Amino acid sequence: MEDIKKQVQFLRPEQIIKEREENGIIYAPIGPLEWHGPHLPLGVDPLRAEYVAIELAKRIGGIVLPTFYFGTERERSPQMLKNIGFKEDDYIIGMDFPENSLKSLYFKEEVFAIFLRNLLEMLIEKWGYRFIIVVNGHGGENHITVINRLKKEFEEEKKVKILHISPALNFPNSKWSHATKEETETIMSIYPETIDLKKLPQKPEKLKNLKFAIVDDLTFRGTPTDDFTVRNEEDPRDATFESGKVVVNLIIE
Ligand SMILES: [Zn+2]
Repeated sequence: MEDIKKQVQFLRPEQIIKEREENGIIYAPIGPLEWHGPHLPLGVDPLRAEYVAIELAKRIGGIVLPTFYFGTERERSPQMLKNIGFKEDDYIIGMDFPENSLKSLYFKEEVFAIFLRNLLEMLIEKWGYRFIIVVNGHGGENHITVINRLKKEFEEEKKVKILHISPALNFPNSKWSHATKEETETIMSIYPETIDLKKLPQKPEKLKNLKFAIVDDLTFRGTPTDDFTVRNEEDPRDATFESGKVVVNLIIE
């Protein structure tokens, strides 16, 4: 019930106006439907963003827009392809590795930019918001660049404040990992019924980067393991409900 009171789609006009006058913050949770290994739901990024946005609204005020299941990715750079274990001239979009059974619904970069631009314009020009928090669940490099570009432009040209925060990237010791322990445990603590760890092979079999499209932080940053597998410390099979709760609270704090 408390969640519903914070979400724009459940509010009447006078409630939205009152919230705007009393607090003035509006949150936009965003993230694409994206492959996160065979064991996780496609909505990992936007679902985490939504959860964090609602919790922040409960703690510091403001209201939360309906979650936008949109985000972008583009072709990986030769260096990044090498880090993960591909050939430098392969053509790979985001986390859509050839062995995945289902492709992600990434919007093209220019479409994503136009969509986000229009959303920000409407919040400013139609609803009169001066302080917008984009709660972004997705770590794609070009996705982040688009958000930061629009943030800069809007802040300079429209004299508003746009905060870009990310449950994935903004907290101490945060990692640039994909579908490893951290994402698995946090989703486990919010929507435990959506996870099926049995979809991964049993230990001690290692999780190959290219087979599952699960990639740890150090691999993305250029230090893969010799056999291009997920490191023990980031093994999603070690995720628990309790460890997830700890991480989620840390993110919100
Ligand atoms: Zn993710």
